[in-house]
Amino acid sequence: LHERLPIEGSEDELQILAKTLNSMIDRLEISFAQIQQFTSDVSHELRTSLTILRGEIDVALNKDRSAEEYKSVLYSVMEEIVYLSDMVEKFLYLSTKTSDPNQIVSKVIDGIRLFEYVRNHLSSIAVNKKIELTFKTPETITFHGDEDLLRRLFVNLIENAIKYTPEGGTVAIHVTSKGKFAQIEVIDNGIGIPEEHLPYIFQRFYRVGDSRTRSQGGTGLGLSLCKWIVEVHKGTIEVRSKPHHGTTVILSLRHG
Ligand code: ADP
Repeated sequence: LHERLPIEGSEDELQILAKTLNSMIDRLEISFAQIQQFTSDVSHELRTSLTILRGEIDVALNKDRSAEEYKSVLYSVMEEIVYLSDMVEKFLYLSTKTSDPNQIVSKVIDGIRLFEYVRNHLSSIAVNKKIELTFKTPETITFHGDEDLLRRLFVNLIENAIKYTPEGGTVAIHVTSKGKFAQIEVIDNGIGIPEEHLPYIFQRFYRVGDSRTRSQGGTGLGLSLCKWIVEVHKGTIEVRSKPHHGTTVILSLRHG
């Protein structure tokens, strides 16, 4: 920890300056600690993935295998690479956008066009999983914020809803206007989240269940990214869930 400047009782200019400097040092120290934590989380995740990849390839190279066996190794390797790509993409978002406020472009955004983009982006994943994906929006709706980040926010939330809902389920997006704010609900009838996990799901790398289960392909970064995006937009995000019944994410975002 760094030394702090002594502050006497009086409120002259030097004292005010000392106070300001002290609080800047406090903020810097918190930022450094966060960066350290982030770097160590990232390294840990990368190492785990690399260990898995090495293990798979080692086994394949150790003796001659049938074509089927090689294929199965390639599938596992591919799964791990998809996971790594997803993680790196989210890291880039978290590191570039959080460290450089100039990268955040605030403007009025046409909400209908935004949801069009999100629907086009996700409809094939929903169709593949036989999930009915529906959007209910007013005729016009605007948001105020960064289009790129808001797209990322909705894509992440709806991707989760699809991912954690079994085949044949439904994912519905309801958008309503409430005064200065738009309320957006992402409602699925999937596996739900046990109550004891709810306080932690916005933490980086937090996953319900086995964090190294690749079948769901998650990194545990999606919701932390969503929370950050909502905070940057001075909105709110809340999750209500009941195991085996489904999950609803409720967002409130400022109109344009
Ligand atoms: P992941 O990449 O694992 O999906 P997230 O940060 O997006 O990470 O979510 C954290 C955890 O919260 C997930 O691992 C999952 O267990 C749970 N979760 C998120 N969204 C849903 C949902 N719609 N239904 C059920 N569980 C969910």
